[in-house]
Amino acid sequence: MLLFNTTDSDFKEKFSELLGRGAMDIEQVSEIVKNIIKEIQSEGNEALKRHIAKFDRWEVKEDSDLMVDPRDMKKAYDKLSSELRDALHLAYDRIRNYHEKQMPKSWIDFDKAGNTLGQKVTPVDRAGLYIPGGKAAYPSSLLMNAIPAIVAGVEEIIVTTPTPDNEINELLLAAAHLCGITKMFKVGGASAIAAMAYGTQTIPKVDVITGPGNIFVATAKKLVYGDVNIDMIAGPSEIGILADNTAIPEYLAIDLLSQAEHDEMASSILITPSAELAESVRELVYVELAKLEREMIARKSIEERGAIIVTETMEEAVELMNRIAPEHLEVVTANPFDLLPHIKHAGAIFLGSFTPEPIGDYMAGPNHTLPTGGTAKFYSPLNVENFLKKSSIISMSEDGINEIGEACALLAKTEGLTAHEKSVRIRLK
Ligand code: NAD
Repeated sequence: MLLFNTTDSDFKEKFSELLGRGAMDIEQVSEIVKNIIKEIQSEGNEALKRHIAKFDRWEVKEDSDLMVDPRDMKKAYDKLSSELRDALHLAYDRIRNYHEKQMPKSWIDFDKAGNTLGQKVTPVDRAGLYIPGGKAAYPSSLLMNAIPAIVAGVEEIIVTTPTPDNEINELLLAAAHLCGITKMFKVGGASAIAAMAYGTQTIPKVDVITGPGNIFVATAKKLVYGDVNIDMIAGPSEIGILADNTAIPEYLAIDLLSQAEHDEMASSILITPSAELAESVRELVYVELAKLEREMIARKSIEERGAIIVTETMEEAVELMNRIAPEHLEVVTANPFDLLPHIKHAGAIFLGSFTPEPIGDYMAGPNHTLPTGGTAKFYSPLNVENFLKKSSIISMSEDGINEIGEACALLAKTEGLTAHEKSVRIRLK
């Protein structure tokens, strides 16, 4: 795990190398993904079946095999132990409660001239949620994607998820039952994104696609964007930690590893003005690493993409962290709320020693589908607005159009749009 100081002579080079690490090499797979999309567009289910045989190793005999039977979702839910069912419900309730607070309202306003202006908020008709499942299953991602869509009021929510060797995770099925999902399709990767973007004989075309996935999923989302809306292009997971000498090194070490164990490409970065803290955290990362179930993945991530930077001051640490714009940011200092006004770019901000990032992955309430690779500079976490759109409302009174009509007609005339000019002018007194 790289440990360096901002005073090092080669600091600039090391830091810019670090900034580049989260980038996904979409070019590398874009030809493959373009072909997959074309095949789905021209052949529909037949192409889906071929891709499933090739990537997920099972044979789809009939179109109906593509769909999960909702009765299996209920069975999986009924079979849950009471502890697991309670945990699932607790997560569902907390996530739902948080997302309900995000719901924007339609509004309408009347002015003195009797004009009515407003904004009507409406959900999309159909949303497609991608729940990854190539190397691991993510029931928590189903909750995080389905709940904002439910709160937004989306009428039809469909789910796609790969089922390697035709095996599906029981907790994922149970979570789908809890969310009231009835249309879940056993297809993954770029094929699933293309199927939801363009529709096949079995999978309906949707208006918006959300959800994380590997590089094939991310590339496909980028390519179908415009034909359908998407939430964001998410890459490998990241954690950034800002800490001072009041932080407990054991906590920070395991928090860094909690991202590293996701993926070899995940990155974990601690920035601190305390050289002493930096050294102890690095030591402890290696101690804890050896105890992990996913040691191999975490070790590769830590060795190739983990870093600790020692700064001169906390201000400098914050400035560097804003340049990284991490997906998850932990602030573990004596007074973390003092730093909040200075933090500009991060997907989710976890404040204080009792707020480990994994609490946000499952239970706290905010969404865990977050912008990665520095895109927190312009993307927000997945939220209800990803499933909504707005229509403007305009109704002019006779007095109202007389008041502003001349000015409007003049602007139209100056743009050379004479029908526009006339359409307004013929209504004026
Ligand atoms: P996945 O579901 O994203 O991808 C599996 C699919 O990839 C396969 O079904 C197949 O269609 C396709 N694929 C695999 N190899 C291919 C190839 N050679 N050519 C074309 N297509 C191919 O599952 P995954 O691979 O396990 O990746 C999931 C990713 O999602 C991980 O990086 C994980 O960290 C991330 N994730 C992120 C979040 C989040 O909220 N940010 C949550 C859960 C998972």
